[in-house]
Amino acid sequence: MGNPLRDRRTPLELAASGQVIEFSERIGDFERLAAIVQGDLESLDPDKLPSGWRDSLVSGRLSFSFADAQNELPMLEGRVTATPDAVCQRCLEPFEMPLAADLRLLLGDAESAGMSDDDLEIWELDKDTFRPLDLVEEALIMAMPYAAMHVDDDVCRGPGEKVSEPGDKTRPFAALKSQMEREN
Ligand SMILES: [Zn+2]
Repeated sequence: MGNPLRDRRTPLELAASGQVIEFSERIGDFERLAAIVQGDLESLDPDKLPSGWRDSLVSGRLSFSFADAQNELPMLEGRVTATPDAVCQRCLEPFEMPLAADLRLLLGDAESAGMSDDDLEIWELDKDTFRPLDLVEEALIMAMPYAAMHVDDDVCRGPGEKVSEPGDKTRPFAALKSQMEREN
């Protein structure tokens, strides 16, 4: 038995079989996402580090089909969610950051976009085959805010003690993301 989230397939195969993938995986299994979360948590005092951060779940549902009647344009619809541990940039305390991405994507290139009447976002693939897991990971990385902060002001303890330098516009996720893009 393969694992549809991890198996490398072509978009055409997935669309032709009407593949539906429901999953719930540990964030530690998403290498790049885990590296970003880890990099962010490194700013915490060791005693504040959430010990189970790698076990936090990434869940979602992906559904593959065709966007056109000729069955030439594979598309993906779905939703992925995660609540990785992150450091609030206001109070500098760890918290569970809710992330969600709604996906409605045409799996192809700019050329195929012109062939669809539907207003779908294009997800360009470098190779013919891909792992749905990599797409999920990329979508969640893109959904990360520039600066993680408590959503609920009542929970947030307000500005932390470590005051950043004047003019220091630190955006940890942005920095980590661009660093990873350079490495790729
Ligand atoms: Zn906070």
